[in-house]
Amino acid sequence: MKLDPDLRLKIYEISGIYASRFSIPEPKVLLTTREVLDMPRETTEGARTSAYKYLGLSYNKQSLIFINVRKVSDEKDLENTIVHELIHQRFPYLSHGKRFNKLVRQGLRGKKFPPYQKRK
Ligand SMILES: [Zn+2]
Repeated sequence: MKLDPDLRLKIYEISGIYASRFSIPEPKVLLTTREVLDMPRETTEGARTSAYKYLGLSYNKQSLIFINVRKVSDEKDLENTIVHELIHQRFPYLSHGKRFNKLVRQGLRGKKFPPYQKRK
């Protein structure tokens, strides 16, 4: 998709809506690889120069996500990617797999999740 100010605003809106349903702080959203590189090195540690390869990334500890708008094909793909990254933020211990995908589907359907409680 082509990033313009309208799309940028829309992405911030969608992220805000899902963040509130998932009981997580509204994340800072980066939308270009340039924005990833412009962040302080420690903030985006682990994926900086490789960011262009991915549809999206979640920097869990920072309340920060990257949505690679250039790689996103349409609105459905966009919403999927945003929800995918926000599920990473809400369930930081969970890696990709069946359970993860189920949570993404539930999220897309509008499910709310209570705040994350760190397990003892
Ligand atoms: Zn992921």
